[in-house]
Amino acid sequence: MAEENKGTTTQAVPHTQAKQNTQAKETTQAKEKTQAKPTSGENANRKPNHNNRNKNNNNNKQDGDKPKSNNNRNNNASRNGNSNNNKNKNRNRHRRQPTPVDENLKTFVTKNQEEHKQRLNPHYKLDLNSKAKIRITPLGGLGEIGGNIMVFETEKEAILVDVGMSFPDETMHGVDILIPDFAYLREIRSKIVGVVITHAHEDHIGAMPYLYKEMQFPIYGTPLPLAMIGNKFDEHHIKEHRKYFNPIVKRQKIKIGNDFEVEWMHMTHSILDSSSVAITTDAGTVIHTGDFKIDYTPVDGYTTDIHRLAAYGEKGVLCLLSDSTNSHNPIPTGSELSVAPALDRIFSKAEGRVLLSTFSSNIHRVQQAIQYGIKYGRKICVIGRSMERNIEIAMQYDYVRFPKNIFIDADEVNRYEDKEVLIVTTGSQGEANSALFRMSIGEHRHIKIKPNDLIVLSSRAIPGNEGSISGMLNHLQRAGASIAMSKDIHVSGHASIEEQKLMLRLVNPKFFLPIHGEYNHVMKHRETGIMCGVPERNILLMTDGEQIEIAPKYMRKVKTVKTGKTYIDNQNNHKIEDDIILDRQKLASDGVVMLVAEVSEQNSKMLAKPKVTTFGIVPDKMDKSFAKEMEDVLEIFLTNIKPGLIENSRALENDIRQVVRKHIFRKMKKYPLIVPHILVH
Ligand SMILES: [Zn+2]
Repeated sequence: MAEENKGTTTQAVPHTQAKQNTQAKETTQAKEKTQAKPTSGENANRKPNHNNRNKNNNNNKQDGDKPKSNNNRNNNASRNGNSNNNKNKNRNRHRRQPTPVDENLKTFVTKNQEEHKQRLNPHYKLDLNSKAKIRITPLGGLGEIGGNIMVFETEKEAILVDVGMSFPDETMHGVDILIPDFAYLREIRSKIVGVVITHAHEDHIGAMPYLYKEMQFPIYGTPLPLAMIGNKFDEHHIKEHRKYFNPIVKRQKIKIGNDFEVEWMHMTHSILDSSSVAITTDAGTVIHTGDFKIDYTPVDGYTTDIHRLAAYGEKGVLCLLSDSTNSHNPIPTGSELSVAPALDRIFSKAEGRVLLSTFSSNIHRVQQAIQYGIKYGRKICVIGRSMERNIEIAMQYDYVRFPKNIFIDADEVNRYEDKEVLIVTTGSQGEANSALFRMSIGEHRHIKIKPNDLIVLSSRAIPGNEGSISGMLNHLQRAGASIAMSKDIHVSGHASIEEQKLMLRLVNPKFFLPIHGEYNHVMKHRETGIMCGVPERNILLMTDGEQIEIAPKYMRKVKTVKTGKTYIDNQNNHKIEDDIILDRQKLASDGVVMLVAEVSEQNSKMLAKPKVTTFGIVPDKMDKSFAKEMEDVLEIFLTNIKPGLIENSRALENDIRQVVRKHIFRKMKKYPLIVPHILVH
């Protein structure tokens, strides 16, 4: 599909020069059209220049679709070079003859330049005659961290990549998780031929049970993500949907539907068994990195499959979608193995129990902690539901191996000396229902914090969680424990700028879509993309719901589809309707007023004093005076009541709500929930 097209090669040289002149004005499509148009010869743009080599270099840069900033730099450099050379030339004119030029060597300079051009510009590697196109729609994960779900569509078929969840902010009272709105999936349901999973993090698989309760498709992924999805299906009582599992082998291409061929490539990340995927359709190959970092020394020895990425880059890649989470970080992300010395140091010095907390999905971190626990003669006690489950799955499927006799239960901890115990637990984010938090406030059934305990937080604070972590640290320290949370006991799982550059250079895509991140993250990643040779016009910043169409000759936004979030209550795994959340927000910020009044049908007068109840509006001691105020408001309203309104209870209550709202806003600048009950006799 993406084969070299010699016919366009000759035309593309003049095109790229034309492009330089009109760069700012052109739209993507218009620009692409100029590609096929032969323009006048190469010499047209040449300026008088005594230094042929410099000039050729400049041309070469332009042909390679290099970003403008680089060109400017090169132009400046060459200008400076020229003027120096000119000076030298003048000075040397009388001293010696110029060295004769070996014309044969010169032709090889040209040939090498041509080779660089062919190698660096993905444009030449695509099948530009293909009319095929692919549409890409993020339904979550853009403009936010988490909730990743991406739709890839051909004319007749569609696949989803990841179906993740995200977390609510503090205004969404009583909401435990957010899942993407599936409205668009309902619309294209009959087109969907499969779900492709990159890795087992919650923000990539967390919404799977909610989707599968509603609609089912074959699921393709490596064993760990499937095992973890299976676990979720069991918890949600939809065990039978495990039958949709299609485990895959990395590097082996799988046909999904008629239109998609997908290959999983191993990636290093903060969870085991992560992948990027190469999705090939008639339009070409699109590479979705999933989440990744480039770890040259991973704990299990399975490095990022840069060879496969490079192979695709060599063959020609239509579009790269790459992880933007750490796109502001200029320092290369450390290897997972780099936390080992710090863990060793901490464990060697600890005199009492060690309680280590990290993300429960980071099995390699847990594995390293357990190894140092064993090294210093400690038994291992794993506490916390998600931690226990993840270690169990990782051991069941042979991702990690430990002797069984090193593990002890929480109720056995007190039988051992403090120095013989390592507790590995959840709660690194200070979550109120986590094991470590419950220990910190003395509410854990088996573990009470002791003065010589050492708490190791091997994690970073997810933005928004700083407050709860700080609160937990206060509790732990009050109970006498000491805390280790230095930077060297945690590394990120996401690529920083240098690794993002490596990805861009390996894959060498024609088009680039930065994904996974808020706007500022994808914006920064775009900058990195431009530095790595992707022309500015070939990069789009997507937001959730925006549909992008890509063909070998162009990329453009085509439409916007419905997206949003569905609120989930974890207690019962049920959806919470939007209006409930709005009511809760109103109650929390503005309170509630309830009015019960009996009104005579004959003369529209109150038959007794109204009953007024408020919460979150006035202090208790002012309840009486506020009730009197409400009574006055009602009385004035009833005196001036429109004829006939008294018979229509709904309209009556509505009008009362309005006058009460106006009155309260005038006095208190608040809009509480107002609940009137008017009984007409
Ligand atoms: Zn991840």
